[in-house]
Amino acid sequence: MSIAHIPPRTDLSSPSPFVCRAGRRAAAVLGAFLGAWLQLLGGAQAREDAPACPPETLGISRVLTVPAGVQVGTKSFPETLPLEDKEVVLTFDDGPWPGTTAAILDALKAQCVRATFFLIGENARARPALVKRQVAEGHTVAHHSMTHPEKTLAKLPFDSARAEIDQGMAADDAAAYGTTAGTPRIPFFRFPGFASTPPLLEDLKRRGISVFGADLWASDWNVMSPGQQLALVLGRLESAGRGIVLFHDTKAQTAAMIPAFLAALKERGYRVVHIVPSQAGAR
Ligand SMILES: [Zn+2]
Repeated sequence: MSIAHIPPRTDLSSPSPFVCRAGRRAAAVLGAFLGAWLQLLGGAQAREDAPACPPETLGISRVLTVPAGVQVGTKSFPETLPLEDKEVVLTFDDGPWPGTTAAILDALKAQCVRATFFLIGENARARPALVKRQVAEGHTVAHHSMTHPEKTLAKLPFDSARAEIDQGMAADDAAAYGTTAGTPRIPFFRFPGFASTPPLLEDLKRRGISVFGADLWASDWNVMSPGQQLALVLGRLESAGRGIVLFHDTKAQTAAMIPAFLAALKERGYRVVHIVPSQAGAR
């Protein structure tokens, strides 16, 4: 299993590709995109009640409803979630994994925090009890392909890549809920290695499945001590100020540092936002 994530775009100072492409796109396409985005901004205003948490915990500051079919995360896309300063969304990829996923769930529970897990289908199928625990504890169970192919979905034929996506979503849902409905309960997908293609992105958008990149990450695919990883991700967060943060719940160094990371978020005044799909997307 490959769990390397190669940043496709790291120069955040470069002009937004959206600006560049906008002039070349048909007005109808642009209008549809902006319409979806305004819907997303509207979703940000329609806040649901966050779960009640003990005051000594970090907790959840708000629940953000994400409309169907958006593509967010500035490492891969022109736009990201409409987060305010010091708001973070916590995401974990590649699990569920023995030992580390449970440790991270314990740490999140201790701080009354909810996260989003992007599962590998074959891992979900192998460890359904961990997936059911994620659902039971209020986390968002999202999708990250069936086998996380080392060559990435971008290098597969379209039909094979689409099958990887669909089989993964079905395996995740079967593990989480015991059934599959043909469409994912949580229409959230993240490409392995962030390696997407325009036809796959278009296909997911047409099907109402939102695609998540990230705004920053812990680089936890590189071996380092938990302390080094904590300093690295906190430094990146201080620079970015907000964003979708990517971790891997398959990594022991990540499981070891998450309690200190959550404590640091609280100490530094960060707020955790929990993401859920819109009713239209949740089936
Ligand atoms: Zn991955």
